[in-house]
Amino acid sequence: MTSPSWDWAYGEGGQAPWDIGRPQPAFLRLANDGLLAGRVLDAGCGTGEHTLLAASSGADALGIDLSSLAIERAREKAAARGIEARFEVADALNLADLGLTYDTIIDSGLFHVFDDVDRARYVESLASVLTPGGTCYLMCFSDRQPGTVGPRRVSEEELRAAFGEGWAVESIEADAFDLQPAAAGLFGTDSAQAWRAAIERV
Ligand code: SAH
Repeated sequence: MTSPSWDWAYGEGGQAPWDIGRPQPAFLRLANDGLLAGRVLDAGCGTGEHTLLAASSGADALGIDLSSLAIERAREKAAARGIEARFEVADALNLADLGLTYDTIIDSGLFHVFDDVDRARYVESLASVLTPGGTCYLMCFSDRQPGTVGPRRVSEEELRAAFGEGWAVESIEADAFDLQPAAAGLFGTDSAQAWRAAIERV
């Protein structure tokens, strides 16, 4: 099982390496291409940059996260920036509990936190709320990233295997996560190798 709260990452002095205060460039490109549209769910939204990006691109956007501290920060950002987006504390493993469905799902850095058992539960959870024809845009740590610091590495084959029946993997491209400058010491660089995938619910 994964950590029950994740508040540790967002508390005093908890400078999460991924919490860069702006969207990841990969998701900015998706927004610029008009792909973050309709009813959008940002699963494991953290402090909400991608939810806010989707909302400012015209989407009806909801961000969910297990960490109530992260959700507090996200709501503060939305208010400070005058952006209409919703944020809720919720478990991405039980998305159907929210009673909503989505045209598009964003996952920036959530998929790779799960062990094998929860990974399967997560993909089922996504399938239960993404409408047929809808797309999940997912970015996870890649096995091309050297070393062992940080989250679990994911291979392209593992990604394809995780999204089997009921899904069509449209693309998997090599990309990168921008990291907090403070994390550069940990990783040796200020970015980390990632896979960016577009996966359609069929
Ligand atoms: N998407 C954000 C955060 C990525 S870090 C960003 O790009 O900055 C992964 C996030 O997933 C953390 O905020 C963590 O609190 C959250 N998380 C972990 N397990 C979760 C679960 N089961 N349900 C919802 N959120 C979860």
